[in-house]
Formats: sequence, C-alpha cells, structure tokens
Amino acid sequence: MEYKLLIDGQWVDGGAPLEVRNKYDGRLIGVLPTSRQEDVEAAVEAARRATTVMANMPAYKRSEILARTATLLRERQDDFACTIAAEAGKALKFARTEVDRGINTFTIAAEEAKRLHGETIPLDAIAAGEGYFGFWNRRPVGVIAGISPFNFPLNLVAHKVAPALAAGNSLVLKPASSTPLTAVKLCQILQEAGLPNGAINLVIGSGSTVGEWLVTDPRVDKVTFTGSPDVGRHIMSVAGIKKVTLELGNNSPVVVAPDADLDFVAKRCAVGAYYNSGQVCISVQRIYSQKQVYEPFIEKFVRASEGMVVGDPLDERVDVGPMIDSKEVDRIESWVREAQGEGAKVLTGGKREGCVYFPTVLTEVAPEMKVMAEETFAPIACVISCEDFEESIRQANATKFGLQVGVFTKDINRVFKAIQGLNFGGVIINDTPVFRADHMPYGGNRQSGLGREGVRFAMEEMTNIQMVAIRLG
Ligand code: NDP
Repeated sequence: MEYKLLIDGQWVDGGAPLEVRNKYDGRLIGVLPTSRQEDVEAAVEAARRATTVMANMPAYKRSEILARTATLLRERQDDFACTIAAEAGKALKFARTEVDRGINTFTIAAEEAKRLHGETIPLDAIAAGEGYFGFWNRRPVGVIAGISPFNFPLNLVAHKVAPALAAGNSLVLKPASSTPLTAVKLCQILQEAGLPNGAINLVIGSGSTVGEWLVTDPRVDKVTFTGSPDVGRHIMSVAGIKKVTLELGNNSPVVVAPDADLDFVAKRCAVGAYYNSGQVCISVQRIYSQKQVYEPFIEKFVRASEGMVVGDPLDERVDVGPMIDSKEVDRIESWVREAQGEGAKVLTGGKREGCVYFPTVLTEVAPEMKVMAEETFAPIACVISCEDFEESIRQANATKFGLQVGVFTKDINRVFKAIQGLNFGGVIINDTPVFRADHMPYGGNRQSGLGREGVRFAMEEMTNIQMVAIRLG
C-alpha cells in the first residue's frame, strides 16, 4: 500500500521511500515518501498560512471538526486497531483500547474547544489601575510541531493534534519512522472532518533530519515532543526561543504496603509491566515490597507473569507481542545479562524468540544496575524487599525521573505519606503507574519532562496569555 505526505491539504510525493513492516512477521505493510528539506519548508509555510484561518475559526466550528473526527475514528475502529497492531506490534486487544482512548481524546478536545477562556482582573486593586478595566484571554501560539514516538501511534499523536486544533493552532506532525501509517490515516480523517487546508501537515522521515529541521525552524512557535530523554534534552538545546513541551521517560516504581491485596497487586503489576512489551513510558519497572509480604508477593507475581500469553499481536488471545525491533531486544538482553553478572536473579523469562522478549522478573537487583536506574522500555520488572513503608517510599523516590508512581495500601495515613513524599507528576493509589485518563493532567517532574498534557492542560501550553487593559473615560 502506497501513501503520501500531506502538505497544504494535498497528498504529495517526496524523497526516498520508507518501508513500514509488520513488527511480528516482517511483512511489508506500507511505503511512504520521506520528506526532503524543501517538503518540510513547504509544510511549515502551509501551517503558517493556516494560522489566520484557525485563529479566527469560531469555537463551535473547531469543536464540530473534532467531534466529527471522533465519530469517523469510531466508524473505522477495526482498521485503526489492526494498523496499530501490525505497525507497532501491540497486542490487538490493547490496540483496540488505544483506539477507544483516541476517540476519547478527540471527544474531550471537542468539549474543551468551547471552554477556552480567560478572566477579568480588577486593575483598580492598586491606585495606578484606577479607571482601567482589565481581562486576560488565551490566544493560539500559531504553528506547532508535533513529534511523536512509536509506542502509541494513535493516542500520542491525538494528544498533540486534538488540543492544538481545539486551541486554534495549525500543525506540522512528524510521527515515529517505525509507525507512521496510523498518523496518515488520522490525517485522512481530519480532512474528511472538514479541517481547512494547511491546518495539519504530515511530514515523514528520521528525527535527526526531518525532526531537527522542524525543531530549529524559527517559523515554528511551539514544539510538543514525546519520546526518549536523550532526544528531549537535545531538542531543548537546539529549539531556540520557542515554547517546548517534553513528555519523556520514567523507570516507574510501585510501592506495595503489607496491608495490600497481594493477588490483585500481582495481577495489576503483571499487566502494567508487560503490556505493549513494557514499551510504555509509565510501565511498571521497580516494585518495592515490604519484607513481611515479599515472599508471597514474589510467588504470586511470578505466577501472574507466566500467565501472560505471548505471541502474534494480531491473535486476540495474546497479551505480549514483539518489541519494536531486534536492536531493542538485543539491548534489553545485554542489560539483563549485565545485571546477572552483577548478582541479579532471573525468576522467570530472560529469553527471546525473534523480536518477542518474554515477561521477565528480576530480584537481588541493586539501584545502580541499568535495569533499575535507566528506563528499560521492555517487559521487565525488578522486585525489591524493603524494611518498611518509609524505606520503600525513599527508594521509589531515588531516581532521576518523576513521571508516575503507584502505591498499594488500604491505610489512609500511608496514602497521605506517599502523596506528600513522592516527587512525581502523578501518584496513583491502589493501581499501577500505568493508569492514565486522557483528560487528567499528565506529565513528569525532574528528567521526565516539561509541561503537562491531558487535553485542557495541553491547550494551556499551546496558547499565550494575552492581557488587555482598557483605559476608561
Ligand atoms: P525517540 O526519542 O527515539 O523518538 C521519538 C520521536 O522523536 C520520533 O518521531 C523520532 O523520529 C523523533 N526524533 C528523534 N531524534 C530527533 C531529533 N534530533 N529532533 C527531533 N525529533 C527527533 O523515542 P521512541 O520513539 O523510541 O519512544 C520511546 C520513548 O518515548 C521512551 O523513552 C518513552 O518513555 C517515551 N515516551 C514518553 C511518554 C510520555 O508521555 N512521557 C509516552 C510514550 C513514550 P524517528 O522515529 O525518525 O527516530
């Protein structure tokens, strides 16, 4: 199947072809042109021209386009789910969940488009303001570059596109090179939904060329990026003076208090650690269990890990499909081998079949091992025994990251100790850090990023506050 680039409302050719393959069996599933520098220039220019029409479009029209996009997504739910499963290797049942979430994200944006407003300011609160009337409102920033990763080819694209349009901006979108087909299909739907030419433009190609041209372009007013911490740091250093939102990685911890329901925790942690082969920015990675429940927890967790069905993501029964490519499997194999060399024990998993890495439980780990200190982005969970609750909170916090954390306890005092003690953008009580609703504020502290997504919060980051002071009389 051949696809094209979208520039100024037209599907056009570009440079060298990019082949997209099924991540389980390697079948060719699509070919697209990559964008040359002149294509990126044209896309930014088209977006620039569309800023006026988008900024002047009334809220109800922006809302209608977004609501129609949600309806069209629902109508093509199966096609989107199968495309995600094939190009990202995500188990079909979870690909379906991602499409549901994409529909939610556009529906929420359709609602939020009508609620974007400022407030009045009593300027006469000081003597110099006497005789003035003041209010502030929110104006779209203009052109937004949206750069997305491979692991949620629809919903993480939706988290860039839907709030940007809801707030009256235009966009140039660059999806991950390994999973661009879902983004192409989403752009087709946005056109059908009535989005004006140039309001969304799609460019394709490697981050180091196409991504870099976008990020450094002075006509781009904001970059919204989801991806790895290294690329995030680089973007920050080259973007120049423009707004930047960064949604980066994590090595998400879970704290298990002795009063928790261990059967429930073990099952939730297994899904949270292995879902999408652990290639989720809030995947369960470090589990701190208190020593009095460590042995029974480990036994239940290993059983739950071994209960995950591994195989072809297009098979409805499968929980865990392949990782995105063999290089990633090689990387995680070497991290596990290195940890074993330093004393870690593999209780289950630790093996591969092609690009599938089996759900793996590690114990006897140390904080400085890569499997603990870095983001594994693989189906691996480390379980650590702690003296007491305070110690597990301290260890959970001892990281350079700060996206989300899960805490399992029925004790209200422990709940508040956790909330006050944990330096994370999201604290999830009695579930894993993987919990995310698409309208909640979402984003990381420390090296996990800058700014927040979650439609309303992303819209705030995609607008400038404009102050108006009117001298009366
Ligand atoms: P990468 O950082 O490798 O790539 C993300 C995107 O950035 C891709 O589109 C990539 O293009 C592009 N890119 C790469 N280099 C540059 C550059 N120099 N300038 C501009 N763009 C560039 O991440 P992955 O796709 O491997 O995704 C995994 C990472 O994403 C993990 O670290 C994960 O934690 C994080 N993530 C964070 C989330 C959050 O909300 N906090 C959610 C999901 C994932 P190309 O594909 O062509 O290389």
